[in-house]
Amino acid sequence: MKKHIALLRGDGIGPEIVDSAVEVLKAVAVKFGHEFTFTPYLIGGSAIDACGKPLPEETVEGCLAADSVLLGAVGGPKWDTLPGHLRPEKALLGIRSAMGLFTNLRPAKLYPALKEECPLRPDIVEKGFDIMIVRELTGGIYFGERGYREGKYGEEAYDTEAYSRMEIERIVRVAFETARKRRKKLTSIDKANVLETSRLWRKIVHEIAAEYPDVEVADMLVDNAAMQLVRNPAQFDTIVTSNMFGDILSDEASQITGSIGMLPSASLNDGTKGLYEPIHGSAPDIAGQNKANPIATILSAAMLLLYAFDMKAESDCIVNAVDKVLNAGLRTADLCRVGAPLTCTEMTQKVIENL
Ligand code: NAD
Repeated sequence: MKKHIALLRGDGIGPEIVDSAVEVLKAVAVKFGHEFTFTPYLIGGSAIDACGKPLPEETVEGCLAADSVLLGAVGGPKWDTLPGHLRPEKALLGIRSAMGLFTNLRPAKLYPALKEECPLRPDIVEKGFDIMIVRELTGGIYFGERGYREGKYGEEAYDTEAYSRMEIERIVRVAFETARKRRKKLTSIDKANVLETSRLWRKIVHEIAAEYPDVEVADMLVDNAAMQLVRNPAQFDTIVTSNMFGDILSDEASQITGSIGMLPSASLNDGTKGLYEPIHGSAPDIAGQNKANPIATILSAAMLLLYAFDMKAESDCIVNAVDKVLNAGLRTADLCRVGAPLTCTEMTQKVIENL
């Protein structure tokens, strides 16, 4: 197969980890007889430096024209004081919107080889966990009306959460389909005791549940869910939740896997076109030092092969190589407690050797 992938390296460790994933994809292409081509586009702070805006039109056009998109991360202290519309993070919301990426799949599983890195009690770790978080990505408070105004006590800022029936229905359906392919257990997380948007969300979840009698569904309030994730993560299979709750809970889930440097994600629209990225940020504290863990981005490339190109064997090949490397005790600095850690490029090489 011939496939074209747009690369959004971004800022901080973005270029290092995307280059790692590209090396792995090139090795997979050779092994399986595919032809992958890659075109880099500017995004985030590096785009602001080059052309004064975080998401240039050529980047959007390039992503829409490509077969799939691989993103590193954006942002950093250099751009933190810019006004909101010029912040690197604005580019993420822009590209998600332009590509219609309303679904964000964030798997969080505990690798047996990384049990020692899990910060939870040994009896909880022993049970393990394998969770798929389905997060709504183009609605809610991150996209709602916002602004500044003069309030009762002077200057005031506001952001608004709004969800339409259509937005909730489509993400909830994705979640039921996802749960159906897993352990058939769906937890819908909301704040229905306080928020109107959550009450609509909950009502629609129960309407759609009637179409999926084989999937067990339960509601959970977000504050309880934050607690349950560290108390008993094994109880979860598939989780569906709104944009902001999913953002926060998936970072919590990442930390109990051992390192945020391990977790990939897929952002999908209603076709096969998607954008694949690690869930972590640009890690400015370790940028340019060859210390980053490339595994989250390498596993994002594995998700890309599976979801965008329907290449299951190729995707499994990467996932198995990562398993082998971890089982052999090889670690980057974020996961290494004894011995010398591997650099980002050394870890990449080890994954390639194990494909
Ligand atoms: P971060 O995820 O970049 O870093 C948090 C901590 O985790 C840091 O100590 C970092 O060194 C470490 N870390 C992250 N990824 C790692 C990896 N692959 N290997 C080893 N260690 C890793 O979060 P932050 O510090 O809150 O944010 C830094 C910048 O990234 C900010 O500008 C933020 O806005 C941006 N950000 C971007 C995205 C994105 O592009 N999708 C997501 C989150 C944050």
